[in-house]
Amino acid sequence: MQSRSPIRKCVGCGARRDKIELLRVVNNKGDILVDPGGRTPGRGAYLCPNLDCLDQAIEKGALKKALRKEISDEIYTKISEEIKHG
Ligand SMILES: [Zn+2]
Repeated sequence: MQSRSPIRKCVGCGARRDKIELLRVVNNKGDILVDPGGRTPGRGAYLCPNLDCLDQAIEKGALKKALRKEISDEIYTKISEEIKHG
């Protein structure tokens, strides 16, 4: 059976999953935004919605690389809050 949504790769654990199962983080003109709807334009990265994957992505530098932006504590907190509450 074919999946309806595209497959994306988590920048943390590297798992390939349905796009809708992943949390999109986007660099929108220099602002890092969490984009649950997947509609914000800009350079995006995908994460499984859990803190382990966020931590892995930070530790490997994968999120920074994907978004071409340093991940500050503020950004980290914003993403982790979205994971916890979103
Ligand atoms: Zn993951």
